[in-house]
Amino acid sequence: MPVFKMPVPVKIMGRSSSITNSFVNGIIPCIEPTENEIDEALSVLGMNRETACCAYCGSPHTEWDHLNPIVDDKQPTGYISEIHNLVPACSKCNQSKGNKDWKTWIYSDAQLSPKSKGTPDLDERVSRLKEYEATFEPRKFNFEEITGVELWSKHWDNYERIIDAMRLAQSTSDEIKKLIMENVGISVQRKPKQPNYVRAGNTNNQNESFPSNTEDEALLEESGIAKRDNETLQHYVQRSFCFLMKNSYIPDRELRDLSDKEYTNRVLGLNDRFLSRERWFDSSGNSRAWKDPYHGYYLCSEWNKRRFHIIEPKYRHWVAQMIRTGKMTNRA
Ligand SMILES: [Zn+2]
Repeated sequence: MPVFKMPVPVKIMGRSSSITNSFVNGIIPCIEPTENEIDEALSVLGMNRETACCAYCGSPHTEWDHLNPIVDDKQPTGYISEIHNLVPACSKCNQSKGNKDWKTWIYSDAQLSPKSKGTPDLDERVSRLKEYEATFEPRKFNFEEITGVELWSKHWDNYERIIDAMRLAQSTSDEIKKLIMENVGISVQRKPKQPNYVRAGNTNNQNESFPSNTEDEALLEESGIAKRDNETLQHYVQRSFCFLMKNSYIPDRELRDLSDKEYTNRVLGLNDRFLSRERWFDSSGNSRAWKDPYHGYYLCSEWNKRRFHIIEPKYRHWVAQMIRTGKMTNRA
């Protein structure tokens, strides 16, 4: 360890993942198994209480892991915490597996996967696990159907409201910190000047004028790229992206940033990156992007209908902002 180590600075938004976690995991039921059920589960895995170990690699087990992930891409999958969806696991396997499909992961070269670790009896373990799934058939529910759309949306709206409040609190906190630092005599390092380009991701800063939706709409209308009444959001995304690219309105830096999940989430509210030079897939091999590239970029195909009321205004605002900054940059 070096002599000096700076404590990690705290950010309000740094707590956002635990909020997400509590909203997603907080609604998933945990069903305590009976002693009999535990014995039964172990026996199908070829173990007993004395020989119980990680079902994936055979190391000593430290926890029970969800065989089918209960969360994927910040959304509940419909599986719940019940013994029929749990197997004993070591923490290394649990971490390495994450939300991946266990059958793909176990034979993958992922760091610390059973195959990477050279687990000797892998095929035997896989067939035990398959038998486990066949014997107990972990249940999968449609939570939205159970709760009804209204209650379900209320939950996610609450979530969005809290995250939005945190964003606002973050910018106030940044402002305060900046003033205090100036007061202690440390000038805040200015980022290289970028005169004509306001980063879309920084629009929560209270000091920046935030154009109203009417201004956005007027600009989109005037530029001939307003969303048509009967047009789907997906179609509008494709059409407006082509429009922006054709006019060179999107700065390179923005294109780079939008291939980042967190940045995209902040700017567009999507739960994935907006674009990438290469097509990308989820852990089950399903494409997360539309099949054909647009101006050399694959675009995210995951536009969650339930979140349109959040995503659509954000997207329109982003398009307007790209036109605004693009026009200024092109003129300069
Ligand atoms: Zn293991």
